[in-house]
Amino acid sequence: MDSLSQKLSHHFLDAFKDSDVACLSEVTPQGLDQSAVVSSNTNLAGTLGIRGNFLDDPDTQEMFSGNLVPSSIKPVALVYSGHQFGVWAGQLGDGRALTLGEIDVSGELWDLQLKGSGATPYSRFADGRAVLRSSIREYLCSEAMNGLGIHSTRALCLIDSNTPVYRESVERAAIICRVARSHIRFGSFEHFHYRGANDMVKKLANYVIRRHFPSWEVGSEGYRKLFKNAVQETAKTIARWQSVGFAHGVMNTDNMSILGETIDYGPFGFIDTYDPMFICNSSDSQGRYAFVNQPSMGLWNLNALANALVSLVSPEELTSILQTYEPTFRREYFDLMAQKLGITDFIETDSELIDRLLLILAEEEVDYTNFFRSLCEYQTKGGGDFLTKVLKNSVKFNSWLADYDDRLSQEPALSQERRSKMLAANPKYIFRNYMAQEAIDAAEQRDYSLVNDLLNTLQTPYDEHPEMERYAGDPPNWASSISVSCSS
Ligand code: AMP
Ligand code: MG
Repeated sequence: MDSLSQKLSHHFLDAFKDSDVACLSEVTPQGLDQSAVVSSNTNLAGTLGIRGNFLDDPDTQEMFSGNLVPSSIKPVALVYSGHQFGVWAGQLGDGRALTLGEIDVSGELWDLQLKGSGATPYSRFADGRAVLRSSIREYLCSEAMNGLGIHSTRALCLIDSNTPVYRESVERAAIICRVARSHIRFGSFEHFHYRGANDMVKKLANYVIRRHFPSWEVGSEGYRKLFKNAVQETAKTIARWQSVGFAHGVMNTDNMSILGETIDYGPFGFIDTYDPMFICNSSDSQGRYAFVNQPSMGLWNLNALANALVSLVSPEELTSILQTYEPTFRREYFDLMAQKLGITDFIETDSELIDRLLLILAEEEVDYTNFFRSLCEYQTKGGGDFLTKVLKNSVKFNSWLADYDDRLSQEPALSQERRSKMLAANPKYIFRNYMAQEAIDAAEQRDYSLVNDLLNTLQTPYDEHPEMERYAGDPPNWASSISVSCSS
């Protein structure tokens, strides 16, 4: 226990506890009754330099269950504000999360947070809890995204309990330990800006620069770089979402990381049958965050961030940096899509080939992930079910294939080499909602094996996992009836 808790520092707390405008609260977690370990992420533990079996130590388990706060640890909840569904929502904050401290990962500090550990001063009228089901979803999706090579918060462990939580029915409370390079959101800057606390906007920017970009100067040039980094990393992250068919569901500015990483897994969903209008969040009646809208919503959010930074960077500079969003997004997106097709160097005319294919997949209602995985075998074995059965009679697809053949003939790689590259660009396993549901159903009966099997599979989604083969096929019919909504 000592070894882990003593590794944690409190740089954020030290930097902000005496600020004129409050930006955090020291809090005490509310623990869980009869905590039980669902899963611990030995892979991430290794990255953090802690023992893979860290939860074997009873005190450490108690810490991650919110029941024990070692004397060296000072948990804090952060305040932030945000635009929710395009509307200014005012003050929000860590309503059900607290940061235990920071841990040094190769010279950079990463936060360790508990999520679901009870009410904080920012809970408003809610209970500060997270139910087991949503915690399993966040735990596995964070790791699935990381496995796909998409920048994301991580998850170190997941604890179940007997503590009741009252939602539509009585459920069990759980806590995950979320790990992130930063928990500072666009909404953290908006919070201070809209209170007229420009000195705090600056202090926060200085903090982010010193912690994450120590080689940058703290001052005008550093602020420009910080915003440019947010614009470009957000563009790239969203491009990666689009390339794997991930829909976030709640792209409010309080759920956007200043480092451009994916954060806050709620009603997210991966696309099964390709549908650009896919809306994963049943509360999103207007489809504001529909799959196809995500790139433009990213830009909308960056505009909101720009507004919050006007005291640091001139409007002209903010505007010109914002203009780099679209080209950055396009470059990243088309590079990734080209790789999925086995094209090494994207050329502008490939965009037409890609767009046309997506239209066909939508029209023919084809499974997005399975199509691309099958396509890896096209040149060597004819291309699996989709090409030989599902799309065989599509005139449009066959004419697309002819153009695809032409394009591949200009590529330097031989088909075997291309096949291996494509297998590394087209995941076999994505975290589909029905898989989450099966893991949840078992865990509710206290069988945690599927959570752990999925963790293992989703961390290396491009590899073969013969024992998990059934999760590589089409989702079952009942999958389309799953509905997921906001915070739970
Ligand atoms: P989300 O849409 O999940 O990002 O949540 C928006 C805001 O509501 C955040 O400030 C959360 O901390 C807060 N929140 C969500 N669920 C709860 C809960 N059960 N208890 C307290 N605060 C919550
Ligand atoms: Mg949130």
